[in-house]
Amino acid sequence: MTNLTPMVDLKKQYLRIKPEIDAAIQRVLDSTAFIQGEEVANFEQNFAQYNGTKHVISCGNGTDALTAALLALGIGPGDEVITVPFTFIATVEAIALVGAKPVFVDVCKDTFNMDIQAVESAITPKTKAIIPVHLYGQCADMEPLLCIAKTNHISVIEDACQSVGTEYTFPDGSVKKAGSIGQIGCTSFFPSKTLGGFGDGGALMTDDDALAEKLRAICRHGSIERYHHQYVGLNSRLDTLQAAILNVKLKHLDEFITARRNAATYYYKALSEVDWLELPAKVPYSTHTFHQFTLKVKNGKRDAVKSHLAKNSIPSMIYYPVPVHLQPAYRSLGCQEGDFPVSEQLCKDVLSLPMHTELTEEQLQYICQTIVNFPL
Ligand SMILES: *Cc1c(COP(=O)(O)O)cnc(C)c1O
Repeated sequence: MTNLTPMVDLKKQYLRIKPEIDAAIQRVLDSTAFIQGEEVANFEQNFAQYNGTKHVISCGNGTDALTAALLALGIGPGDEVITVPFTFIATVEAIALVGAKPVFVDVCKDTFNMDIQAVESAITPKTKAIIPVHLYGQCADMEPLLCIAKTNHISVIEDACQSVGTEYTFPDGSVKKAGSIGQIGCTSFFPSKTLGGFGDGGALMTDDDALAEKLRAICRHGSIERYHHQYVGLNSRLDTLQAAILNVKLKHLDEFITARRNAATYYYKALSEVDWLELPAKVPYSTHTFHQFTLKVKNGKRDAVKSHLAKNSIPSMIYYPVPVHLQPAYRSLGCQEGDFPVSEQLCKDVLSLPMHTELTEEQLQYICQTIVNFPL
């Protein structure tokens, strides 16, 4: 096999848009304006327009975005924030870092997203916010969640780090982009994300003018006027170089998403007959942008399938091998094995296949053939 694929092919994507990217980088180098400036303001405007949200506040990474969101809502010690244990650690880390207590609800076994029915019983008088995670590029079911939040006067912060460009459809037919649905949406431009820079980056989205001003201040050391500090803040900015790169890549985002969907369509078709696999579920209320193509391997054979792929030089990943409630760093929360059985089982069953914008039919065919040939 001459043309193997990595898990994510950033090199080939760069080469495809190299002239545009190189020109954008050169522009920043020529200006020597490396912090803030026009490129950052332009990107914030363009990204707000793409998402249909009034304000975008760029920041250093997705974890900072989550932290800033919690700080802006005044959440801290004594408060509880509901989220899921089947996510990247940053979702929960941000809650812990502001001094609040993460409270978990399990996820649904088919969508991998928050089990909305479990939310109500996790609410206490201390609950200040809920953070649904739109995992792998598909939205959690937001409409019923927003109803619960509204009834209980709780804020919703979306972790949209894996779901840039994903669309949620409300029961009345209206459509919103992931990250523009709750009070605040958070996203990441880590290089491997669906909209990735060439380094770290992140952004916050909100329609609320006052929150936007506060978020902007919090990301700039809590200051609105320079050297006057209203809030305890962060030093969290999107580099101008990253903004310039992201301005180029944002123009291609819908093509990138189409390329991911085409690869996913191939996987669905080629693997549909494999009865020991469960392919990612599609839901009526959300599109899927396939940040990951994550399937479940039945019969406890996940690790064997992973080694079989590796032996045939095909990379695959486990997102995530350990649920957050069983991570050593979060032991003090007092959770035990068995507390969130769906998340725990998913950690044993899930496997993510190579997924990016540059997958060729030849590569997809080889990956799928290798899976079909696995001697179960
Ligand atoms: C990537 C990611 C984050 C954190 O983003 P960084 O930019 O790496 O800080 C948070 N939550 C989820 C679900 C992510 O996938």
